Amino acid sequence: MASRTPLMAGNWKMNLNHQEAVVLVQKLAWTLDDKKHDYTKAEVVVVPPFTDLRSVQTLVDGDRLKITYGAQDVSVHDAGAYTGEVSAPMLAKLGCSYVVVGHSERREYHAETDAVVNAKAHKAVEHGMVPIVCVGEGLEVRKSGEQVPYTLAQVEGSIAGFTAEQVADLVVAYEPVWAIGTGEVATPEDAQEVCGAIRARIRELHGDAAADGVRVLYGGSVKASNVAGIMEKPDVDGALVGGASLHADEFGGICRFY
Ligand code: PEP
Repeated sequence: MASRTPLMAGNWKMNLNHQEAVVLVQKLAWTLDDKKHDYTKAEVVVVPPFTDLRSVQTLVDGDRLKITYGAQDVSVHDAGAYTGEVSAPMLAKLGCSYVVVGHSERREYHAETDAVVNAKAHKAVEHGMVPIVCVGEGLEVRKSGEQVPYTLAQVEGSIAGFTAEQVADLVVAYEPVWAIGTGEVATPEDAQEVCGAIRARIRELHGDAAADGVRVLYGGSVKASNVAGIMEKPDVDGALVGGASLHADEFGGICRFY
């Protein structure tokens, strides 16, 4: 089995201006340096709002930080008359390594379908960035026990059209909607059930190299105090973290789960 470097990604959502962003990234770097974080044991990614990216880039490049960064969304278009949109070439130019696509808040408030999420994921890859493709069921689906087929259908739609080689480099984030920002964390067994099913489906569709390479994250109220149990599961390769990523000590603790 391929060894996958765990990935801890902090999605700041619509929080922190560009000056606050610099302070948080500096604090996080200090915290991790202080505790002698081993970046080969967990890659650390921050995902700030678009308006912070230039400042984060300057800080990361200037101080040669090992923290990498990404964007929270991307346009399906490269350029043109799309007011308010931000394109993949713009994000690549800003040094983004990752782009979150299909976050449940985008799916819910902006009616993003799997087809749109898929187009965004392709744009990211086309421009040399890794999409973090978010999937996950809402409370009603969870109550009906249909979380696995529901989420697998989202995965298939959202990563359609990639070659096995490309799939191996993708990141899929399983985020049960009922656990996002609610304090309601899925059990490690809940996370493993769906993350394992995602990897198994990728194995069926794209083969061993893709399944062993793709990183499958869990997201939903992850904290320093509950991350270790989740990370013990064989098919969980990291976490997509919302609220807790706004605090350097807390997110630092998550990154140092090992
Ligand atoms: C998220 O927004 O992706 C998320 C998982 O949020 P939280 O950690 O706050 O539940």
